[in-house]
Amino acid sequence: MIQAAPLVLIVSGPSGSGKSTLVQKILELPGTMLSISCTTRAPRRTENAGKWYNFVTEAEFQQMIGRGEFLEYAQVFGKNWYGTPKKWLDEARAEGKDLVLEIDVKGALQVKEKLSEAVAIFVVPPSRADVEQRIRARGQDSEDEIRRRLERSRQEMLKYPSYDFAVINDDLDRAGREVQAIALASRCRMARQEDRICEIVKTFGG
Ligand code: 5GP
Repeated sequence: MIQAAPLVLIVSGPSGSGKSTLVQKILELPGTMLSISCTTRAPRRTENAGKWYNFVTEAEFQQMIGRGEFLEYAQVFGKNWYGTPKKWLDEARAEGKDLVLEIDVKGALQVKEKLSEAVAIFVVPPSRADVEQRIRARGQDSEDEIRRRLERSRQEMLKYPSYDFAVINDDLDRAGREVQAIALASRCRMARQEDRICEIVKTFGG
């Protein structure tokens, strides 16, 4: 049977909207895999390399850009670089899995331009206060950094019309069910299923 191309699911939204937790919910679905980004940011105390990020130097990152290895990349907070290596698309295709990208708003718009069939989910924080609390709870950012992140979140909120779906992250259980439902429904979109349906139609005699 013909296999559908991997579904690309973009989970994006303002900094501090709780994207990572919702990404984990999608990854609970069989047949999904995470795109591990490269970043020039230093690892936080809780992060080990290769799980959420591959940590690289600025020189390594620039070389990867030069070699055209990124599907998208962006400088976040005017400081660190983050990018999605194209290799994950090949890997997802080879494994027959759907690929989940957790990326910022600039990156999401780049991916939608290149892969129009990608499905973009906008994770909406319930309020600015909630975002601030989330950033502070991590306890790893300076006051300056917190201010920068909050200002950036404000600008990112305005980009919601470019997305296919919105999930308001005010109740983790419900928001988790919603992202899973979006992933499952996206798998069944007619445009993705057409080749497989044609094969089945042939078994009916065409
Ligand atoms: P953090 O430093 O808190 O891990 O991530 C900062 C921001 O960068 C978050 O909004 C996160 O979603 C985004 N980000 C992580 N990986 C990528 C990536 O590969 N590309 C882009 N454009 N943004 C990313």
